[in-house]
Amino acid sequence: MGIAPKPARPVEDGAGRECATRTDLRRMAGILTFGLMVLTILACVPYAPQGPFDARTYARLAGIRLEQHSWTALLEPLFAPLKVIAGAPDFWVATDSLLAWTVLVAVVLGLLAARRAGSGRRGAAVVFRALRRALVLIATVALLIMFFAIARVPGWRLVVRNPNRIIADLHSHTVLSHDGLASLRTNVLWHQSSGYNMEAVTEHDHLSDHEITWLSPAALAAMPALMSGVEDHTGRRAVCVGLCPNTAMRIGGAVRHTASFAQAIHAAGGAVFVVTLPNLTPNDITRLADDGVDGFEIANEGHPGLPPRLARRVLAVSRARGLVLLADSDYHGWTGLARTWNVIRAPGAATLSRSQRVRVVLRQLRRHDSAAFTPVVAGYMGAPSMARAIFAPFVEFARYAMELSLARVLSWWVWAWGAFGAYVLLDRRRLRAGSIMLASLVWATGAGLVGAGITVIRQGPGTTNYGFHVGLATTMLGAVACLFATLRGLSLLAEYRRDDRIWRTASEVTPAGAIVAAAPVVEALP
Ligand SMILES: [Zn+2]
Repeated sequence: MGIAPKPARPVEDGAGRECATRTDLRRMAGILTFGLMVLTILACVPYAPQGPFDARTYARLAGIRLEQHSWTALLEPLFAPLKVIAGAPDFWVATDSLLAWTVLVAVVLGLLAARRAGSGRRGAAVVFRALRRALVLIATVALLIMFFAIARVPGWRLVVRNPNRIIADLHSHTVLSHDGLASLRTNVLWHQSSGYNMEAVTEHDHLSDHEITWLSPAALAAMPALMSGVEDHTGRRAVCVGLCPNTAMRIGGAVRHTASFAQAIHAAGGAVFVVTLPNLTPNDITRLADDGVDGFEIANEGHPGLPPRLARRVLAVSRARGLVLLADSDYHGWTGLARTWNVIRAPGAATLSRSQRVRVVLRQLRRHDSAAFTPVVAGYMGAPSMARAIFAPFVEFARYAMELSLARVLSWWVWAWGAFGAYVLLDRRRLRAGSIMLASLVWATGAGLVGAGITVIRQGPGTTNYGFHVGLATTMLGAVACLFATLRGLSLLAEYRRDDRIWRTASEVTPAGAIVAAAPVVEALP
């Protein structure tokens, strides 16, 4: 029985049907190699933008280093969108810039493609189609970012070998705050995995007890020491954190002036510092120092956009008054990425018990022992320059690539060529490879989101239903993504079967007949 010659594949008809020719595949491989080479070269540049830096001067710090959990390298390319955005000086600015660029690039590429194909489509239709593609791309990337944020896949961990240092985060939240997403257990485990050995849990508007009750004494010793505090609005723009050794006092909600807040906290043996600085004016900084605070947060991971002129005023006032400068996470349970640490000089820190560590840090804060505190950041935090804000996707991608280790670069190469190999295999079977791979990615991410959402719900209730609502919304979003991807997969399968039937019938006649027979199907595709 003779084998009919394989008919020529129909070429790109401009309607989204992917039928790669040899030239197409060669071009794709070339682009892939070029991209990976750029990534690799950037990773080899002998400069590490992640620091660790002193948040006051951005001088690189010696004797300490940043590392990542090695297992996360396995997921590196999927993790990349969140890292690119979250590692920017101000992630809000970077997000806006990335969205604008995605739409712009999609429209320009759509117009260019239409022009090259010489299609008779009207300009508006081409732009609409390009925007639709941009929307799919943005939605897929957003799903990936959401998964890595809710699943709290960890990022940097500060490694300090000096036994005379305490690594502290003095500002974080749990579900006992109205907008907290992390249970105490999640909060503590995140701090431990990010390199802290002391932390303050500072709920909004009220002082709560925070005790680890689920661990044996031996396991507890390895956990960060815990201190409780309260974060409160103490003026029109001012927000302060009061750290308290005694949680019996009830302070939150009533004090509306920084001076009286500071007085009450100091009377209880605690310490006070100003947080959320981007909302302040330079004159506020001086007034707050007059009100008797012990320090300022020069870096806050949750509110990173501190304008340079405000940062300069904070530095000047703190230097003149001998106040302490801090770098805190303001962790609410979103993402597992840490960017801020306080390295605190404390002789014999390694031998101190958990409660002793708390006492030492409080004492040094109250004494304004500013020389003992080094606020540490992984990369520049603050309002970005105009150029960095406008070109954020390119600058932040370059920054991200320069932070990559060899293992993470290898992960990129394996994933990229693995994906390309899968594309070629599917394409050879006359399947719409790009669509199938995208649907698979959306399905897997959706399933991950369902799991992550259920984990958030299972943390248990807080003072509000915020965690439950976010968990539920995440689970539903994941389920919708899975459903959408499944429906897309089924429609691709039906289309393939229909297409293949016509194909086989036509192939038995002549190659030319195959094209003639397939043409109406191709034409009818969306
Ligand atoms: Zn806070």
